[in-house]
Amino acid sequence: MSPQTAVDLHTHSHHSDGSLSPADLVGHAARAGIGMLALTDHDTVAGVAEARGAARQFGIRLVPGVEISTTWRHQAIHVLGLWIDPACEPLANLLRGQAVRRRERMRRICGKLQRLGLPGDELLSAVESVPGLPTRSHLAAALVAGGHVKRAEDAFRKFLGAGKPGHVAAEWPPLAETVAAIRGAGGIASLAHPLRYRLSSGARGRLLEEFTASGGGALEVVTGANGAQEAGACAALARKFGLRGSIGSDFHHPQHAWNPLGRLAKLPAGIDPVWREPGP
Ligand code: AMP
Ligand code: MN
Ligand code: MN
Ligand code: MN
Repeated sequence: MSPQTAVDLHTHSHHSDGSLSPADLVGHAARAGIGMLALTDHDTVAGVAEARGAARQFGIRLVPGVEISTTWRHQAIHVLGLWIDPACEPLANLLRGQAVRRRERMRRICGKLQRLGLPGDELLSAVESVPGLPTRSHLAAALVAGGHVKRAEDAFRKFLGAGKPGHVAAEWPPLAETVAAIRGAGGIASLAHPLRYRLSSGARGRLLEEFTASGGGALEVVTGANGAQEAGACAALARKFGLRGSIGSDFHHPQHAWNPLGRLAKLPAGIDPVWREPGP
C-alpha cells in the first residue's frame, strides 16, 4: 500500500468512548475513502473481531490496535499498539488490569464529585451502565445529561481535568512496561498525540528518549484536527528520535464535524510511514 492511500490509525468505537459500533465505524471509514483503518479503543481490544469482519466485507484493511493509558512521571501518556495480536496473553493480562483500574478510578472520581455536592452515586451508575470500558468521557456525558454542566469540555474544565477537584491521579502501568507488552504481542508502539501532554520541550524530549529506548517504534505525526505547524513539529521529533510516522484522527463521534474520518493530512516528506510495505 502506498503512503498516498488514505490511512487512519487511531479511532474509537463504543467499546470505549466512541459512539459507533466497530462495524459502523468501518462502514463510515470505507465511505470516507479510507483503505487502512486501525481500531484503537482505550485499553480494550473487545471490538477488533467485529471490526475485522466488517473490514473484510467493505474491502479495507483493518489494523488490530489499542490505545493504552500509561504513566510517565506522574502523567498519563497514551501509547497506541498497532498490528497487535489481540489474543496475546501478556497483553490481555495487562488490559484486564486496566479494566480494574478504570472501574476503581471511576468510583474514586465519583466519590470526590459526591463530596463536592454532586450526585456521585447516580453518576457512577450511569457510567457503569455503558457497554464498554468506562472513561472520563462517559462521566462528562453523564454530567451534561444531569444538567450539571453545559458541554463535555466544561466537565473537564470544572471537575475532571488535571488539577481540578474531581481529578484522580493516574495509576496506569509504566510507559516501558506498556511498550514491552505491545511488542510482545507482535505490535508496533506509536506515541499518540505527542503535543497534547503538558510537558516542557525538554521533558518531551526525555519522554521520547525513554519511549525509544523501551522499544517504541513510531510517533503520531499527524493527529486529529492538528495543522501543518504541529505536524511539522512532530515530524522533527520523529526524525530526531529515529521514529516512523503514524497518522490518526482520534475519531470518536460522527457528530463532531471538526474531526471527521478520512480528512487527514499526509505525512510530511522524509518521514518513514509506520505502515510501509512489506509491512508489519
Ligand atoms: P480517560 O482515558 O478515562 O482519562 O478519558 C480520556 C478521554 O476523555 C480522552 O480520550 C478524550 O476522549 C476525552 N477528553 C479528554 N479531555 C477532554 C476535554 N477537555 N474535552 C472533551 N473530552 C476530553
Ligand atoms: Mn477518548
Ligand atoms: Mn488519547
Ligand atoms: Mn484516542
